[in-house]
Amino acid sequence: MSDKGKVKLSRRDFLRTLGLGVGAAAVGIAAKPLGGTTLAANPNFEARHFSDPAGRPNRPWWVKTVDQPTIEIDWAKMKRYNEGYKADLGTGTVRGGGFEAYVGKEKSDELNAISATTLKDGILNNVPGYTLKDQALKGAQDAGRVGMSFVGPQKAKTPEEKGVPKWTGSPEEGSRILRAAFRHMGAATVGFVELNENTKKLIYSFDPDGKELIFTNDLEPSETETQRLIPNTAKSVLVYTIQMSEETLKRAPTPLGQQTTGLAYKRHTVVQAAMQEFLRGMGYMGMGSASINALGIAPAFGVLAGLGEMSRLNRMITPEFGPMVRCFIILTDMPVAFDKPIDAGVMEFCKRCKKCAEACATGALSFDDEPSWETRGPWNNPGHKAYFEDSTKCMTYWREVGTNCGICFSVCPFAKKDKAWIHEWVKATASTAPVMDGFMRSMDDAFGYGAQKDCEEWWQLDLPEYGTDSSGMIW
Ligand code: SF4
Ligand code: SF4
Repeated sequence: MSDKGKVKLSRRDFLRTLGLGVGAAAVGIAAKPLGGTTLAANPNFEARHFSDPAGRPNRPWWVKTVDQPTIEIDWAKMKRYNEGYKADLGTGTVRGGGFEAYVGKEKSDELNAISATTLKDGILNNVPGYTLKDQALKGAQDAGRVGMSFVGPQKAKTPEEKGVPKWTGSPEEGSRILRAAFRHMGAATVGFVELNENTKKLIYSFDPDGKELIFTNDLEPSETETQRLIPNTAKSVLVYTIQMSEETLKRAPTPLGQQTTGLAYKRHTVVQAAMQEFLRGMGYMGMGSASINALGIAPAFGVLAGLGEMSRLNRMITPEFGPMVRCFIILTDMPVAFDKPIDAGVMEFCKRCKKCAEACATGALSFDDEPSWETRGPWNNPGHKAYFEDSTKCMTYWREVGTNCGICFSVCPFAKKDKAWIHEWVKATASTAPVMDGFMRSMDDAFGYGAQKDCEEWWQLDLPEYGTDSSGMIW
């Protein structure tokens, strides 16, 4: 991931290359309506009221609301998928027992041994990113999670227990209240999807622990030794993202890079438990993930809620934070106003960019020009058009380096945390002039974006909380 040999251009050089000059931000960009602001993020934070009755945020002008997502979905072909590997079905993700089933126990054991040796040698030899402090940070993220459960902690007093009626109001009010609460708890972006006969197919059939997720006519959610029961009255999917730190993910693949996702998952456990209790306090149910990667295909709900678009990563990319988010869901019977998908030009940009596929050391990502209906293996869920990945290649690499990876996320041109002009130009161009996408990708390379950063340097940085920047939300 060295940037050796790459052409380094200054912003001024870049503008001159385009023949635009430094003041060229006005060319077809700043002139566009931006909800009253310029393309540059407002650096001066101040509290302001939601401008939308449902609390939908102002977004850049190039984020368009559309009726259908920018990937095609064939709901008739879509089936509920099991996250945990099911030997009788021969399907499931590579997490859990899936990887071993797909590559064989011998290969899996061999890779596990390599992984353990790599991690131990990293400490003993003080390998940057693998040192004791890096691995202690990673361990702390995983150990620091609060308990997760399907029905939540169930400690907050319900309206009934307080002797008062439950909250009632319009769906728009419900959305606004939930958005405010979610953001306050630590979510980056929030959207809402109706749970209907189609979208129920995005709820897993089996959770990672093997429990079956079943829709019922029961009035309350419940759980047995083998099942989790979801009342059909739960018609709202609350979808939210948690930001990941670009500063540490740009130091992947190392334990220092790995704890980026660990921190996002840890924060999710806190947000989920708190929001389940908030819903309880309002008089409604809140069903969450009983473990990491449980309950449903959260990024798919994120796409339907307009939080982002699907991409060549076969993951969601948001306009505000690129791929630097993790996505989660909670199911409830509280009425909310549903959101629509978006077209921000991401999928179009991906068709010409391919930077993530080139950066992947194992060729796990698709180089196809167009997304396809054809899956790459039983770890993919059919029924939608996508750039399907070879998850066994990806997971093999994870074991070889002893950590998860995320290089593909960190090199993505949409992953810039700063609000520099080039970043906005790339993103704005992607949604308006696809012909420029290849050129903008080249410029992204030329600026040296995506190069892996120095791991030891990270321990010297004075960063904001969680190493993230929320100004991407201010437009
Ligand atoms: S996480 Fe790493 S190995 Fe997996 S697809 Fe991305 S770049 Fe490739
Ligand atoms: S690196 Fe390029 S192709 Fe890959 S997800 Fe990002 S924009 Fe799409």
